[in-house]
Amino acid sequence: MRTAGPVPEFGYPGRMNENLPPCPKCSSEYTYEMNALMVCPECGNEWVAAEGTADDAGFSGERVVKDAVGNVLSDGDTVTVVKALKVKGSTSGIKAGTKVRNIRLVDGVDGHDIDCKIDGFGPMQLKSSVVKKA
Ligand SMILES: [Zn+2]
Repeated sequence: MRTAGPVPEFGYPGRMNENLPPCPKCSSEYTYEMNALMVCPECGNEWVAAEGTADDAGFSGERVVKDAVGNVLSDGDTVTVVKALKVKGSTSGIKAGTKVRNIRLVDGVDGHDIDCKIDGFGPMQLKSSVVKKA
C-alpha cells in the first residue's frame, strides 16, 4: 500500500542554507541560523558560528629591529656590516666594515629587515643581525 499525499514539510524556523556548516556534534546538514547561533534540529545542538578567522592584528605596528649588538635601529640610520657577506652575482661580496647609509627598516623575506643601497652593489636587503649601528 502506498501512501499518497504530501511529504511532510519540516517547519524549521530560520532559513536553510547549503553553505552553512554541518553540525559539529552529529554532522547533520540541516543546520540553520537563529540569531547569532547555529542550531541543529537533529540533535538540538546550538553553537556559535565561526565568522571567518579572527583577525590576526599582526605586527604591522611597532616592530623593533636590533643590530648585532642589540642597538635599536631606525629608518635613516647608518650602519656598518660586521661580517663579510656573499652577494649574488658578485665575486667579492660585501666586506666586513662596509658602511651602509640611510637604511630603511622593512618586513623583508627570510628575516631580511633592512633595505638599503650599498655603494658598488646597489639596492639590497640585509639582516639586522649582520650590521652594527655606526
Ligand atoms: Zn546535530
